Amino acid sequence: MIKYKCPIPAKIGITALTKMEALPGNEFRFFVSGVYGTVKLHFGKEITMKNENGKEIDTVLERKKEREAWLDKIRGSLFGGAVGDALGYPIEFFSESEIFLKYGAQGIREYALDKESGKALISDDTQMSLFTADGILVADTRLSMRGVGGNPHDYVADSYMDWLLTQEQSFDKAQKMLRKSGGKHISWLLDVPELYSRRAPGNTCISALRGGTPGCMDDPQNNSKGCGGIMRVAPLALRYDFHGEIKELDREGAEIAAVTHGHPLGYMSAAALVHIINRIVYPGREMTLKEIVLEAKETMTELFSGEPYLSTLVRMMELAVLLSENGEGDLDNIHRLGEGWVAEETLGIAIYCSLKYQDDFSAGITAAVNHGGDSDSTGAVTGNILGALCGYEAIEEKWKQNLELSDVILEMADDLSAWRRGRGRGNPSRRRS
Ligand SMILES: [Mg+2]
Repeated sequence: MIKYKCPIPAKIGITALTKMEALPGNEFRFFVSGVYGTVKLHFGKEITMKNENGKEIDTVLERKKEREAWLDKIRGSLFGGAVGDALGYPIEFFSESEIFLKYGAQGIREYALDKESGKALISDDTQMSLFTADGILVADTRLSMRGVGGNPHDYVADSYMDWLLTQEQSFDKAQKMLRKSGGKHISWLLDVPELYSRRAPGNTCISALRGGTPGCMDDPQNNSKGCGGIMRVAPLALRYDFHGEIKELDREGAEIAAVTHGHPLGYMSAAALVHIINRIVYPGREMTLKEIVLEAKETMTELFSGEPYLSTLVRMMELAVLLSENGEGDLDNIHRLGEGWVAEETLGIAIYCSLKYQDDFSAGITAAVNHGGDSDSTGAVTGNILGALCGYEAIEEKWKQNLELSDVILEMADDLSAWRRGRGRGNPSRRRS
């Protein structure tokens, strides 16, 4: 158990509980998302949660066995994204000649550790992915506690405001502000000092959030198609098992990207990524990765029918599939897909690397970062896909050593896997705001 939050939330599979107080008889009282609840611990048995009216909400331990089936993939995706991010972050702004001059003809293949901390540093991609996860968990917690809740993207938008705080304030100053904020800030991640660090955050994300009004597809904040929307959206795909209703989940992924990125290619690419990762984790039927990518393309065509930029997205996905089978060098192929600064190129490069190296996580993320473009984001998204496909256990040990905040990342993955939503129950589109 990590030090930043009390042990109870992880045990019951939800985060964002605050103001914990112990009551007699193994009961604890807590405050979450505007409501008080209690939890009673029956050690060695089940944990039963009740709300203030005494109504039993749910248990997590009864689903523990069920959870194991998904945990490896969910951990793999969140952790794998962080690995690709950390591998690519030191060369994000390097040209290709600078990369190969510094790291040799094969490019960077090991973490370049930060001299001060000795860690492989994550960038804003992983930071924001953690805040995405936390927003989703707060949304689910509120739904469970009160029976009503907003769509995940409403809470994710609040969570991004918490991330903005970590980019603009020191840890100490933020802690003082939090005590006076009256519950405005929702994320336990604000108690993690290491997150108060600017890692080349995207200007679009910062300026959109400073504006104070979250964007959405119907009311975009700007016309940016930067990759800041797609690089943080994987946790949504990990959380819900939708089966036939996956299109609604894809749409929610687009809305989460549209909080800060208003160009259709910025959010449609995020929707396609959600589709791919969700199908890998919760396949429903046996499908190859190529079949999943082609299904995602078809679903985007239906979901965004009539959208003028749809053909660009479709062509990018088709090209990525084609190039992954041509047997030519990665750098030449990646050049044909772009540099990854914009979302559809990030998606294209990640699909290409994942398809080509679907049995080899390390080879996939290495190919994904060694180019002159947005290496940390193409590495992160490739790591999200390949991590889900291969699973956490298959990720080489060397990537698990020295990764910054690896305990927080795994804790968040575990929370995403707990209290898994079955078909329909967790459908964000059925919620009331
Ligand atoms: Mg970054």
